[in-house]
Amino acid sequence: MDLSFSEADQAFRREARAWLEAHVPKTPLRSGDTREGFKEHLAWERALFDGGWAVVAWPRVYGGRDATLMQWLIFEEEYWRAGAPQRVTQNGVFLLAPSIFAFGTQAQKDRLLRPIAAAECLWAQGWSEPSSGSDLASLRSRAERVGGGFRLYGQKTWTTRGAFCDKLFGPFRTDPGAPVHAGLTYFLVPLHAEGVRVRGHARLDGDEGFADVFLDGVFVSDEDVLGGVGNGWKVAMSTTSSERALSLRSPGRFMATAERLRELCLRSPRGRDPALRDRVVRALIDVDAYRFHTFQLATRMQEGNPLGPEASASKIFWSEMDVAMHETALALLGDEAELDESWMKSYQFSLAGPIYAGTNEIQRNVVAERLLGLPRGGR
Ligand SMILES: Cc1cc2nc3c(=O)[nH]c(=O)nc-3n(C[C@H](O)[C@H](O)[C@H](O)COP(=O)(O)OP(=O)(O)OC[C@H]3O[C@@H](n4cnc5c(N)ncnc54)[C@H](O)[C@@H]3O)c2cc1C
Repeated sequence: MDLSFSEADQAFRREARAWLEAHVPKTPLRSGDTREGFKEHLAWERALFDGGWAVVAWPRVYGGRDATLMQWLIFEEEYWRAGAPQRVTQNGVFLLAPSIFAFGTQAQKDRLLRPIAAAECLWAQGWSEPSSGSDLASLRSRAERVGGGFRLYGQKTWTTRGAFCDKLFGPFRTDPGAPVHAGLTYFLVPLHAEGVRVRGHARLDGDEGFADVFLDGVFVSDEDVLGGVGNGWKVAMSTTSSERALSLRSPGRFMATAERLRELCLRSPRGRDPALRDRVVRALIDVDAYRFHTFQLATRMQEGNPLGPEASASKIFWSEMDVAMHETALALLGDEAELDESWMKSYQFSLAGPIYAGTNEIQRNVVAERLLGLPRGGR
């Protein structure tokens, strides 16, 4: 095993670091989950794209720089180290695009990928419904065949930043008579079209981060079916593999949190408490473990092995590690934690980690059944 970076990788890191140091906004942007903050983040996304850093591992023709997966992980480390803004394009860049690369026609790739990279088209994820969260395959939103395409009906909920987006991707039921997994099709839905109503609503922290999307006969053409009619489950599962492992939550993000935690420990009077110091050391070790585990996954992917149910184990690890790091930060801050907006806001968001991208209970079922080969639980 070779754990050192090549000269090309190190040169790539230096170039990324220099660009980020010169361009990352000096004053933090407002939350990208508010309308004003979202606009500020779009300006940042366009600067990233113009600099050639929005989608480093994509082919140049779609706005990337043909970087390797390992270099993308290096870029992520540098991105979070530099304190750069959250990526409000993440649904398009990290979730939808990998499925377009895997299942899209050439015409879809040519039409859709570059506007995703350039933040010209913003995407929301339309999975959850009022009666279908964990049991996604039970979803009831449906699509009826009409000339040239489909008409969609139903309701999607918890759509992150849905109120600010242009389009939505997700599975809809096209064949109610087929077995639940077989009767689904993956659609790319315009949110500003007739028949769509988007209602944004506040989260616990007050930001308008969520929306309900109501669909009443909205037309979607055949060109906006991804992966073929009846193949929606397979396409959706490829999207969730991206969501649960390295592409949505690369180690760089948690390395930056661990570093903030270490600094907090060093300057906080409570940082002398040996029990709290142990928790900080635990965080640093866990983050390193996640980093090397991700390098191993990336190496396997570069050798042509697609990511499968292992993504569930990664998801459990990073989400629980993130909560633990934030709890340690709050313990170090003590009574002042309530007043520290930066740690408090990211703590609240860390609590969502074990829920979004499929709850950790569901991930544990996947690990038990599909990685460990244990018998299916009684469900
Ligand atoms: C911050 C955030 C952002 C989100 N963004 C989006 C988005 O953009 N698009 C989108 O479509 N959705 C989004 N979601 C929704 C998310 O995908 C769902 O909340 C999640 O899948 C769980 O579904 P549910 O809320 O309906 O809970 P339920 O499925 O009702 O689950 C309730 C509880 O029961 C447990 N449970 C359910 N079934 C089982 C089982 N078989 N075995 C063991 N335990 C079980 C669950 O683990 C959970 O603890 C987001 C959620 C959050 C918190």
